[in-house]
Amino acid sequence: MDDCIFCKIIRREVPAEIVYETDELLAFKDISPLAPTHVLVVPKSHFASLDDLPADNVDLAGKLLLGIRDTAAKLGISGGYKVVTNCGEAAGQVVGHLHFHLLAGKKFTP
Ligand code: 5GP
Ligand code: ZN
Repeated sequence: MDDCIFCKIIRREVPAEIVYETDELLAFKDISPLAPTHVLVVPKSHFASLDDLPADNVDLAGKLLLGIRDTAAKLGISGGYKVVTNCGEAAGQVVGHLHFHLLAGKKFTP
C-alpha cells in the first residue's frame, strides 16, 4: 500500500514515536492525542478496516488483541484504558488502515 500513511510509518518512511512492536503489529503515539495517553495499534499487514480482516485470520485477530494488552502494560496503564476502532467513514474512520486507539489518562463517556 504505497500511499497509506500507516504503511509508511511501518516501513519507517514517515517518523512516529513507536512504543511497542512485534513481528505482526506496531504501536505508536497518535499525532493529535485526544487523551494523555493516545496510542494507535496497527497490524503490519494492510487491511482497510476491521470489516476487511479476513474471517479466517483468527491468529492475527488474537495477536492484535493481546498486543493491545501488552502495549498497555508497557505503557504502565494496565487496568485503566479504553480501546476503540472506527470502522468506516460513518464511524469517523479517516485513515484506511485498520487501527485500534488505545486511550488512557482521562474520564471517558461512555
Ligand atoms: P481514525 O479517525 O481513522 O480512527 O483515526 C486516525 C488517527 O490517526 C487520528 O487519531 C489521527 O490523529 C492519527 N494520525 C493521522 N495521521 C497520522 C500520522 O501521520 N502519524 C500519527 N502518529 N498519527 C496520525
Ligand atoms: Zn496501510
